[in-house]
Amino acid sequence: MLLFTPGPTPVPESIRKAMSEPTLHHRTPEFESIFAKARAGLLELLKMPEVLMLASSGSGAMEACVCTFTQKKMLSINSGKFGERFGKIAASAHIPYREIINDWDTPVSVESVLKVLNEESEIDCFCIQMCESAGGLRHPVEEIAKAIKAYNPHIVVVVDAITAMGVEEIDTTHIDALIGGSQKAFMLPPGLSIIGLSQYGIELANKRNVGFYFNLKTELKNQSQNTTAWTAPTTIITGLTRYFELINGNIQQVYAQTKARSLATHKALESLGLRIYPKNPALAMNTIYDEVNAAPLRKILKNEFSLNVAGGQDKLKTSIMRINQMGLIPLNESVWVINAIELALERLNLRKFDGTGNKVFLTAYYDILDK
Ligand SMILES: *Cc1c(COP(=O)(O)O)cnc(C)c1O
Repeated sequence: MLLFTPGPTPVPESIRKAMSEPTLHHRTPEFESIFAKARAGLLELLKMPEVLMLASSGSGAMEACVCTFTQKKMLSINSGKFGERFGKIAASAHIPYREIINDWDTPVSVESVLKVLNEESEIDCFCIQMCESAGGLRHPVEEIAKAIKAYNPHIVVVVDAITAMGVEEIDTTHIDALIGGSQKAFMLPPGLSIIGLSQYGIELANKRNVGFYFNLKTELKNQSQNTTAWTAPTTIITGLTRYFELINGNIQQVYAQTKARSLATHKALESLGLRIYPKNPALAMNTIYDEVNAAPLRKILKNEFSLNVAGGQDKLKTSIMRINQMGLIPLNESVWVINAIELALERLNLRKFDGTGNKVFLTAYYDILDK
């Protein structure tokens, strides 16, 4: 079965092999040197002054950030399940919050954020997804972050970039906390979350000293010494060092290939008569909307073509289909995905197979890559 869900993503053989070595004890010079390598790789990737690794799925890092960086009131953007999660985290911690709720296909605007900040002067933390994975939506995060910092530099900008980290170059200039997770573009098993921190983020984390397990002050103290407060997920961190070896310092190439693959798939899907769901699609995944055919299409892809793509959640459960573009995806697999979709559309009597999908995909892919 070919796994093409936008998380978890397939773990490449060389990463699986690196993780099959005997478990190291976490308080040893051997593991500390592995930790240092993973840390250096992340610092170079994020271009931020600090980075922390936590033993949790992405939501753990989201909780740590909401609780550490909100003292008075949080503002979050809810354009899907993951944006909604920021609000649920705040509610569970009895932190006052306000949400801007948009349709899942609609990016939030800079103006609407500034309007709420004007109305509510107590807001001191802003949380948003770079890519809201519920609908494959890209928010204009860099613009919003810049506008917030111009409005009030003391508002902490927290960005859930779990489906953007390792996918595209992120301008972290106005971001205080940038959240990542192991099971998306890093192609690792779930269980490791990542938080990149700005100087302001470091300062506040140390001053606030919030929480026990997810205490960023404790982690800052330990991780700057290449160790962790609690038992580290040694296996996944070992896998992360292998990821950095795999990309061999050439993250720009990963970004370029991801972009070409994602945009070319977008064109190919449209050429087959499919409708792209989000108004501003993220590169991490391609999301198509078809209320009637999305679910049957997925079923045929799975049963007849051994291809596992994701459906939707909640209200979009059966009306969208999401195809992963994160990680290092061999071109022959992308070609097969488009081909299988075109064949499945024929099975559903929606169009005749004539190879249009792959013609459009490969032409666009090399066009975009060569630019
Ligand atoms: C996958 C994902 C998460 C992480 O969710 P977990 O289930 O906690 O790993 C968070 N935000 C976004 C946007 C995601 O795509």
